Amino acid sequence: MVVEEKKFVTIGGGIGSFTWVDALRIYGVPKKDIAIISPLHTPYQQFKKYCDAIGLTSSHRLRSDSGSRPDNYWGFPGYAVSEIWEEILADKPKAVMKTIVQLIMESLYGDFYTPSAGRVYKSIDSEAKRIGWSEMLYLGIATSIKKLPNTKIAVSLKTQSGATKIIHTHAVLIALGHTRKERKKGIISAYDNHSYIKEQLKKKGGKVVIIGRGATAAQLVEDYIDLAYEKGGIEVISVFRSKNVTGIDSRKLKQKNILGWRLQQFNFPRASFGGSLIDKTDLLWSKASTIPRNSWIHKIRKAHQDCIYKVVGRIPDADFVIDATGFEMNTYSHPLLQKFAGRNKLVKLGKYFEVEALTSNESAVFLSGINALGNGYGPLDSFLGQQYVTDKTIDFLSQQNWSGIHKSSPKQLFMEWWKWIKNKSI
Ligand SMILES: Cc1cc2nc3c(=O)[nH]c(=O)nc-3n(C[C@H](O)[C@H](O)[C@H](O)COP(=O)(O)OP(=O)(O)OC[C@H]3O[C@@H](n4cnc5c(N)ncnc54)[C@H](O)[C@@H]3O)c2cc1C
Repeated sequence: MVVEEKKFVTIGGGIGSFTWVDALRIYGVPKKDIAIISPLHTPYQQFKKYCDAIGLTSSHRLRSDSGSRPDNYWGFPGYAVSEIWEEILADKPKAVMKTIVQLIMESLYGDFYTPSAGRVYKSIDSEAKRIGWSEMLYLGIATSIKKLPNTKIAVSLKTQSGATKIIHTHAVLIALGHTRKERKKGIISAYDNHSYIKEQLKKKGGKVVIIGRGATAAQLVEDYIDLAYEKGGIEVISVFRSKNVTGIDSRKLKQKNILGWRLQQFNFPRASFGGSLIDKTDLLWSKASTIPRNSWIHKIRKAHQDCIYKVVGRIPDADFVIDATGFEMNTYSHPLLQKFAGRNKLVKLGKYFEVEALTSNESAVFLSGINALGNGYGPLDSFLGQQYVTDKTIDFLSQQNWSGIHKSSPKQLFMEWWKWIKNKSI
């Protein structure tokens, strides 16, 4: 059995792992001390699969704001500034003005600025190259995590060739992303490829039902309404368990609502306001809601008037039923984490997102993203949430002698930021 030593290991290799490894490299950890265990080559590969499945392709705008930038540890410049800069270089004065006006007016008029999915992918590619992502990658699946008697952690993995490897380490960050929900027979998941539905509707027409009222459902409803106008003979139906609910937020303000869709005040992933603790104190933010994009609102209102689109409370007879209600919301649902979860199906975490049962003076295991949901901070399953976890883990690690990580001075951080601006490899 091959046993290797690595000071830092991350399991997942998605966006949560990426923000962590990025910070470790910025804080001076050499590539040889880091292992990334993942079945996928690029950090956004899983995210892109989900986005592509719901029709959110590279040219579509995402939901989070300009400063939610997984490739930029400092958050500045945000995507909007980069976009303006590229437009200047490409000599597109109209586009420059449009983005600037949008940024200035975004809280007063028009839609909030959000980056395109393609911009996010491109910027992650560039940063992954800068920090040497592929050189730290162990392609495979982690199969177990154990605390060793000498207080280190042992992570076992199955490589793509089927071999078993063991890595002994001091620190592990686990970010395994979402786990699929079990669905009733005949109901299709929004995150599976369902392009055949469109093909069939194009040929024969029919009824398509979409369950859910979050961002994914909103994207699908828009796509099918477009198809209905293009081809005719297609009816689009949303199913909301509770119709026409108007929420009241923590400031006692009414949440906007059209045709039963709750419109989120700020343009940010719904998950950022979720988390089961926030659920208890602030019901509004944890409820599924969608981004208040003007063109989308206009489209669904018009389709409703034209009798192409309606909202109902129960699943009617239909040709296709698509479930867009999301994923399993508990950590327990991933087999790798099941044995650490308590009866409430959560893994108990400390204030640095460390798994208390696996953390000692010599080692630590952290959870990020949806895997840490329900542990005191809501906005975890988002780019910004994962950067927040990263920062907390760096705080923790900088207090441990074994980590070799020291909090950088403002000057050092500025120098690192300058390297980022110049896209200088580290
Ligand atoms: C459709 C959609 C749109 C979203 N839009 C936004 C947005 O606009 N803004 C925003 O801030 N957030 C958004 N989010 C939320 C969130 O930021 C993303 O889901 C993000 O990709 C989560 O990162 P992650 O690392 O936790 O999971 P992922 O990026 O999904 O990565 C997890 C990885 O773990 C791997 N894995 C699983 N099991 C194992 C194992 N045993 N061993 C090794 N690897 C394993 C998986 O293969 C996967 O590659 C969106 C989410 C979805 C689903």
